[in-house]
Amino acid sequence: MTNPRHCDVLIIGAGPAGSSAARELAANGYNVLVAEKFKMPRDKSCSGILINKSLQLLESYFGSPPPRAAVCAPAENRGMVFTNDEGKEYVYEQKGLNIWRNSFDYWLAQKAAAVGATWKDETAVINYEEKGDFVVVKLKNKGGGEYLAKAKIVIDCSGVCSVKRKLFPFPRGYIYTYQTFNKGSVDLDPHYFYAYLQPRFSGYDAWFNVKDDQLIFGVSVEVKDTAKIGSYYSSFIEYMAREHSAKIDAREKVEKWLMPQVLPGCPINHGAGRILFAGEAAGFLNPMGEGISAALESGFAAAKAVQQADLRSRFAAQAILAAYAENTLAVKTYMERQWRFVADLSAKFSHMK
Ligand SMILES: Cc1cc2nc3c(=O)[nH]c(=O)nc-3n(C[C@H](O)[C@H](O)[C@H](O)COP(=O)(O)OP(=O)(O)OC[C@H]3O[C@@H](n4cnc5c(N)ncnc54)[C@H](O)[C@@H]3O)c2cc1C
Repeated sequence: MTNPRHCDVLIIGAGPAGSSAARELAANGYNVLVAEKFKMPRDKSCSGILINKSLQLLESYFGSPPPRAAVCAPAENRGMVFTNDEGKEYVYEQKGLNIWRNSFDYWLAQKAAAVGATWKDETAVINYEEKGDFVVVKLKNKGGGEYLAKAKIVIDCSGVCSVKRKLFPFPRGYIYTYQTFNKGSVDLDPHYFYAYLQPRFSGYDAWFNVKDDQLIFGVSVEVKDTAKIGSYYSSFIEYMAREHSAKIDAREKVEKWLMPQVLPGCPINHGAGRILFAGEAAGFLNPMGEGISAALESGFAAAKAVQQADLRSRFAAQAILAAYAENTLAVKTYMERQWRFVADLSAKFSHMK
């Protein structure tokens, strides 16, 4: 291994959390390195709805809405329609935007690079460890070569692919998501995102949305129940055919993913020592599926906390963690509110109370 590369802040992952942290720090003169495991633009399983809050955060942190190239049809999202465990429908109107995550995340990463953040894609972090006033990070590039970097602070924004899950086990479950992209027809208004809370369709929720000419049907279960996904999916498709005339002509793609299960009280793991967690890696998400706004907000809050401290001080780590917890109080309160909102809609969520 060659001599370690030095930086002020090493950020793991070029998702919304990583890019909002990277942009804010680089714009304020910090030497920032972002390591992203996959080649950008990379795929991330997501319904790609930017709620109004996400749009406002983008204006505030990145100075503009996403480019036309990241937007899919219908561009305008008008809100969410929930069907609860008793089949009762609730419509929540709000202005939003329908985007493809691969182009959107690539745009965010380019915005961070434009103000001086260096990012390396096809570069996975395989380990990190605090040593004195630094964190030593082991990285692996595309060719399999391993090398070290030394950072004053690490912000782990690696979502569910987290290295953190290995290094800092966190007492929370994970949800397995399964969604299919199809050609076909349905009698629902494509401007809305539809969530179904009937227990016969999923162990968490099922959903439907439209992106360009693709109809997307999704179901999810706790990881321990992954074997049930096939029967949940069949029940859901039968229901959509019966209730909404859904007709699938061709299945084009299947996506499987994980997401953190949002537990009662919405626990957050902010990090330890000179290592902060942001976005899904910390647990920022809510059962309305509003993960992009939570990732943007927590990544930015972590960056602000770093700026509030003197990195040369012996007490920098404690000061940063305390500031970070303080800076994320509002998003944590919002998560708890959204959790209660979904739990009150459906008795099925009551076992999580
Ligand atoms: C099916 C589904 C639908 C969803 N729909 C919506 C929606 O419509 N709206 C919404 O707001 N939210 C939605 N979410 C939630 C949202 O996608 C996430 O909460 C959000 O992407 C989290 O952002 P993040 O930056 O924390 O992590 P991510 O976006 O997951 O980014 C993490 C990055 O870290 C990289 N990485 C991982 N491990 C390593 C490593 N070891 N080294 C280097 N890089 C690494 C990954 O490749 C990735 O690029 C959805 C989630 C799922 C699963």
